[in-house]
Amino acid sequence: MDEFALIRRFFRRDVTRSDVVLGVGDDAALLQTPAGTELAISTDTMVEGVHFPAGAPAHAIGWRALATNLSDLAAMGATPAWATLALTLPQADEAWLQEFARGFFELADRFGVALVGGDVTQGALTVTVTIHGHVPAGAALRRSGAKPGDRVFVTGKLGGAAAGLAAYPNDGRGRYLYPQPRVAEGVALRGFASAAIDISDGLVADLGHIAEASGVGAQMALEKVPQAPELLRFNPDKAFAMALAGGDDYELCFTIEPKKLDDLRARWRPEWTPLSDIGMIDSGEGVRCVKSDGSMWVPAAGGYRHF
Ligand code: ADP
Ligand code: MG
Repeated sequence: MDEFALIRRFFRRDVTRSDVVLGVGDDAALLQTPAGTELAISTDTMVEGVHFPAGAPAHAIGWRALATNLSDLAAMGATPAWATLALTLPQADEAWLQEFARGFFELADRFGVALVGGDVTQGALTVTVTIHGHVPAGAALRRSGAKPGDRVFVTGKLGGAAAGLAAYPNDGRGRYLYPQPRVAEGVALRGFASAAIDISDGLVADLGHIAEASGVGAQMALEKVPQAPELLRFNPDKAFAMALAGGDDYELCFTIEPKKLDDLRARWRPEWTPLSDIGMIDSGEGVRCVKSDGSMWVPAAGGYRHF
């Protein structure tokens, strides 16, 4: 199967979005952004053996490559619309591609995302997705808007991905292989959150990015950080570390002025991931985790770094 047959067979599908003027098959896709919006674009690459274990299920790789990208748009409060996919494969294994495409499109269909282009090359297994979405002009959630006095919130529970990785390959459709991007939640935070980020490197590291970009500090109450139920089988110290520094959970962390809270809570739909108030922004520096006995908790390492 040559490159073109492969693209036709696995990645060229009928597109139902009316804003796709031209999708897969030409030299570039043509897309129509709604009037009054800004285009939000983000890219994430996954390399076998670095971002997922060698031999991980193809279905999960397809899902996860799109999920991490959708999570970035969620953190901006953007509505996802289109994606491109650059795939580097050691060989054109049809069974593998079938499963990869199934995982990718399962998630794409859930969020109405159209695959509009990409690239296929031979080499070590690497998956790069570029996600495109839109957000009303001026309404995007940035990392830089947190102010002293704002509350710090997270969606969902943390540490499930770290527990899944520890249990791998016996994690099934758990949080490590199958992150759930908080797209509706991110959109709902427009006009409410003063700053937002998705938790890919670990809560301490990612809240640290908000603090740095905003020129503020943050204080977290350690016991208020909601732990994934999978962490129950670890000792408390290990569980704290996995929830606060584990990474790959793809929940949202955001800050909000206290006076906006009642309104946000009133609008929060029951089907959305629950919110937890975990701390406060102050004029200090960095992220400090305080235990209920008043002592400080310091994570061993703050997030994964490639270099
Ligand atoms: P070119 O050589 O002009 O860059 P390609 O041969 O790489 O074009 O791709 C042909 C068409 O197939 C283009 O529209 C491209 O966007 C699309 N395409 C290539 N790889 C993928 C993929 N993995 N998923 C979706 N579309 C793809
Ligand atoms: Mg090309």
